[in-house]
Amino acid sequence: MGQHPAVLAAMHGAIDAVGAGSGGTRNISGTTVYHKELEAELADLHGAESALLFTSAYNANDGTLSTLRILFPGLIIYSDALNHASMIEGVRRYGGEKRIFRHNDVAHLRELLAADDPAAPKLIAFESVYSMDGDFGPIAQICDLADEFGALTYLDEVHAVGMYGKRGGGVSERDNLQHRIDIFNGTLGKAFGVHGGYVAGSAKMMDAVRSYAPGFIFSTSLPPAVVAGALAAVRHLKQDEDIRALHQERASVLKTRLKMLGLPVIDHGSHIVPVIVGDPKHTKMMSDMLLEQYGIYVQPINFPTVPRGTERLRFTPSPVHGPKEMDALVRALDALWSHCALNRAELAG
Ligand code: PLP
Repeated sequence: MGQHPAVLAAMHGAIDAVGAGSGGTRNISGTTVYHKELEAELADLHGAESALLFTSAYNANDGTLSTLRILFPGLIIYSDALNHASMIEGVRRYGGEKRIFRHNDVAHLRELLAADDPAAPKLIAFESVYSMDGDFGPIAQICDLADEFGALTYLDEVHAVGMYGKRGGGVSERDNLQHRIDIFNGTLGKAFGVHGGYVAGSAKMMDAVRSYAPGFIFSTSLPPAVVAGALAAVRHLKQDEDIRALHQERASVLKTRLKMLGLPVIDHGSHIVPVIVGDPKHTKMMSDMLLEQYGIYVQPINFPTVPRGTERLRFTPSPVHGPKEMDALVRALDALWSHCALNRAELAG
């Protein structure tokens, strides 16, 4: 969406109409009609009453989670071990009781919930798509536990908004689980192609965060043109189901083709395509060679972002990567894999 004509036109239009910057914090002249419209659009996207824009999803996670201390005295936060740094930072700065459950391990989460005072307020923080392996959080099972133990649910849909669900509301929309999530977090900088982040939830919850989160109150708001661009992107993706289908198809074609070459692809059924190289030297070398010799940019992902021995290249094919680009990539990888004498799986059949 960062290249989409509707987004670019909206940004140009906003610059021409109101200039470059917002002029202040949200409470002091930095709220424009663009900010209000985008918040309404995002609330609608998640089937929530209200939404609150932050300057990034990092700030939204950090600002919201760290503010919960004031809103819910004695709250215990249960956080997935592989949650993003912004949630870790928010929980750390929250400073109250926290429990870390093993990644996607609902049995461990249940143990931790059951061990705590039933009367204590609780919140479970997790993601819908984890970006390093491309695996999905067990949203329904976590919501079941939240119901059983009276916990709030906090879902980071950063790697899913725009890309999953009938209108791009994320995996919770795809799986008809939006009504079971208390607070959503999303970014405007990935699928929506612009910049910024937000939380969405009940009107009361959003009002409370708005009133207490220093990162919301004391920072210049997003420039109107950025907000207008994001608004156009969200609106567009709400009705463009074809582009979402194409996105999934591209990822699935790439995975199939790489598997046919015997390359060790991790496949959890999402749009993220990690290929394990297994050591940092070769991972960096492959990434450099792909860029220098083939003009293809792919991120090398090394320790500590992923465990040692699972260093990888991570591909995120987009709807505009057509058969020509796909062919070039697959051929390049085939050649480089042989050049570096890396292992291949036994080819089935
Ligand atoms: N949450 C997750 C899971 C992320 O991967 C990221 C960024 O990569 C963020 C939050 C932060 O998003 P933003 O770039 O909008 O700050």
